[in-house]
Amino acid sequence: MARQESLICVSCPMGCHLDITIPDEGEWMVEGNQCKRGITYAKTELTNPCRVLTTTVKVTNGFLNRVPVRTTDAIPKGMLFKAMNVINQVELPAPVKVGDVIIKDLLATGVDVVASRSMSVKAS
Ligand code: SF4
Repeated sequence: MARQESLICVSCPMGCHLDITIPDEGEWMVEGNQCKRGITYAKTELTNPCRVLTTTVKVTNGFLNRVPVRTTDAIPKGMLFKAMNVINQVELPAPVKVGDVIIKDLLATGVDVVASRSMSVKAS
């Protein structure tokens, strides 16, 4: 028996309402999408949902105590807590430049963690 799912595609601001039919065998049917990205989004979201992780890391001797960072691509939702544990170990010395790679190949995902803004050294 086929399973029915509904999702809102968040791949662009259109926010198409997707109706997905998942048969026991054969091709999935996706309706309501205005482009092919909706099909990819529905399949990924229902089989291996992924998210871009945004957070902050500690900075020593910086203008502020923490700097915002983000992953360069989405990682599986199931890895987010493990990823946070890794990121929370990091302490960066200032200065930090936007785009600096903070962690290369986070948890062997092929995705890096980069600084989202620059952070200068604290004025003395
Ligand atoms: S299906 Fe296409 S047009 Fe619709 S929200 Fe997704 S990316 Fe945008």
